[in-house]
Amino acid sequence: MPLKYDAIIVGLGPAGAAAAYKLASNGLMVLALDKEKFPRYKTCGGAVSYKVNKILNMDFSSAAEDVTEGIVFSFRAKRQIFIPHNTPIATMVMRDRFDNLLAEKAKAKGVEILYNIKVNGIEEDDSQVVVKTEKEDFKASAVVAADGASSFIARDYFKIPLKPNTLTIEGEFSLDKEILSTLKGKAIIDFGLIPWGYGWIFPKGNNLSVGIAGLSSKTNSNFKNYYNEFVKRHDILKGLKPIREGGWIIPQFLGNKIKISGKRILLAGDAAHIVDPFIGEGIYYAIRSGQIAANAITCGIKNNDFTSYEKEIEREIYPELEAAQKVADMVYSYPKIWSSMLEADTAFIKKYYDVITGDCSYQAFLQEILTTSKFSILIKAVKGWLKEVIRWEGS
Ligand SMILES: Cc1cc2nc3c(=O)[nH]c(=O)nc-3n(C[C@H](O)[C@H](O)[C@H](O)COP(=O)(O)OP(=O)(O)OC[C@H]3O[C@@H](n4cnc5c(N)ncnc54)[C@H](O)[C@@H]3O)c2cc1C
Repeated sequence: MPLKYDAIIVGLGPAGAAAAYKLASNGLMVLALDKEKFPRYKTCGGAVSYKVNKILNMDFSSAAEDVTEGIVFSFRAKRQIFIPHNTPIATMVMRDRFDNLLAEKAKAKGVEILYNIKVNGIEEDDSQVVVKTEKEDFKASAVVAADGASSFIARDYFKIPLKPNTLTIEGEFSLDKEILSTLKGKAIIDFGLIPWGYGWIFPKGNNLSVGIAGLSSKTNSNFKNYYNEFVKRHDILKGLKPIREGGWIIPQFLGNKIKISGKRILLAGDAAHIVDPFIGEGIYYAIRSGQIAANAITCGIKNNDFTSYEKEIEREIYPELEAAQKVADMVYSYPKIWSSMLEADTAFIKKYYDVITGDCSYQAFLQEILTTSKFSILIKAVKGWLKEVIRWEGS
């Protein structure tokens, strides 16, 4: 008997919604399940990089709270420097509205959506996947597991460890409209206070998203102290109390160390640890991996082979995230030096803006840092400076 659904999507965040939309556009019968009722709040900075506009063939401007056209960089909340860009860099969104919009677009394409239904088991064989929920079981030819950072499918079925990861705390602060208007179009990024990470202040409509992210293995046990310190040091937040505050994790990019597909189950987005290890950007990679999963399923159903998914992710995404990892290693090892570099020469950051907008790849950016004479002189200077420091600390 033919199966009712070609594909089931578990989780309707950006990865699941993008996969569902693409599968339905390709003419497949799709069921999408999410444990929450939408629109649902999600702890997130909500910066959707402009490269998303290049891959998402839909208008999501109705979910835009702000459009970022430049970033104020600081080091330990001091030495602020505003570096504008000649085109928009990111769209700031509240995830409840953004994710709901993507889900509605998928629904309009014909995806059947069930909210408030938690998937709690999954089995695959050579011909189908059975998705078990607290209410009933569903069957399909293939499944996109897009159930986020704490994915039970990644942990239980693919045995991918949850740690190490990046810890985060994010709060929403309501700010006087006049002060808020001075931040319109700008984002604030601070290095140096959070080990192997950074802090951010993003304007979003009537509120500010204030958050920190740092690698769990590099931070000490009381992560909240870093957050309190970050908030304390920013004058703009003085005397304010968050309307909402929460901690969550960003999965660490693991690349080829993990398997992200089975016979017919494909992990996408955070569940597959497909996240930029430098800035923690996950929305673009969730959408893109969801789309790649959808195309692999569309072909896979015809030829009974779903292996193209992992191959395509390895070809298109992993080299980018490997380059991002190298940038992270350089910058977070010596944040002070990189902040000084940034002050001395804004060309470096302007080039990085092109990575955020999708006009330059991470690989090309890394290559430029390592080979451009200007940057290599700086790197040599950094190496020399470090030797001095090590000698001085050892003496
Ligand atoms: C504090 C913080 C700030 C961030 N800031 C940014 C940012 O500014 N820009 C950016 O690009 N990225 C940011 N990220 C990363 C970004 O949030 C994620 O990478 C992105 O949400 C991943 O999308 P996803 O679709 O894979 O998973 P999610 O968005 O997490 O969606 C998963 C969905 O699965 C559902 N689900 C989970 N389990 C089940 C189940 N058992 N059954 C059914 N449904 C289930 C959930 O309800 C959810 O709707 C941030 C992350 C954090 C924690």
